[in-house]
Amino acid sequence: MMQYLVILLDDTSVSYCHADNPYKERRLINLDDLRAGIRYAMTENLMIQFVYPDYALPKEYLDVIDTIDHHDIVPYPLKGDVVVIENGELRVENLADAVVVVRLKKAELFDSGEAIAATLPKVQRLNVVVTDLETFTDEDLKRYNTLLDQWAAVLNAEYLHGRTPQLNLLTDRMMLTKPNHCNAGVENITLAPDGRFYICPDFYYSQAEPVGDLQSGPAIPNQQLLRLDHTPLCRHCDAYHCRRCVWMNRQTTLEVNTPSHEQCIVAHTERNAARRLLESIRKEATFMPEVEIKEIDYLDPFDVRKEW
Ligand code: SF4
Repeated sequence: MMQYLVILLDDTSVSYCHADNPYKERRLINLDDLRAGIRYAMTENLMIQFVYPDYALPKEYLDVIDTIDHHDIVPYPLKGDVVVIENGELRVENLADAVVVVRLKKAELFDSGEAIAATLPKVQRLNVVVTDLETFTDEDLKRYNTLLDQWAAVLNAEYLHGRTPQLNLLTDRMMLTKPNHCNAGVENITLAPDGRFYICPDFYYSQAEPVGDLQSGPAIPNQQLLRLDHTPLCRHCDAYHCRRCVWMNRQTTLEVNTPSHEQCIVAHTERNAARRLLESIRKEATFMPEVEIKEIDYLDPFDVRKEW
């Protein structure tokens, strides 16, 4: 069931997920389309997430936005519920109350181990998004494992002192007992500045076909393929924190319901690091007793598909 409507306010709205936004020219959503999008969300009982560009919006837009309860996703240094930092530079001053998203390429990630470790105690939640996940090699995984353990040591110390900063790569899986995927096109849909619906912002940024407009509403062809129960590998998988990114699936395997090997091995490396973190916290204290992360001997569920 749909729960969220993402509204990209401008063609240059910040990207907060895997795809880069290639648009450089400003184009605000038409004010009537913005009103119609809000009406649609009210009719369908959807929570709106507005995604902002890096410039101040005209007052008439802000007045319309303020007519409805919503969340703001903004580029740093604007203030919002979710603040997105790009280009690998972690700047978290005065962001203690926000969810901080940092988008990085793999090489930047490997250069940011210390910076991320130092940031964790200063934020409520840090979401690290690696934008070239499909390039991960086995060698990269070893480096990644070391980084995850380094961040886990910081989190372990924080949790044992009663503080609970979150890092999507580690603490999400540690606290989940069922999948918490992105569910684009199933639980959320995106309205773009062209007044049309897309499965998610990344589909718009990569110039995919729209899936409906404001006159007739969204109509996603073969929508069942976006659902977990139509995803042969993912529905058996317990890397519950994985985004199961259908956009990345389409980019890498040409099928929205088939993940790439890289998406799976990275998610399982995080899963296993979360398992180690959970064990190390539990050596000192009772913590999330309802969560069980089993020891497994594979990183890609495709390798054990015969067991299902
Ligand atoms: S790790 Fe792979 S199989 Fe598991 S949910 Fe993610 S994409 Fe699907």
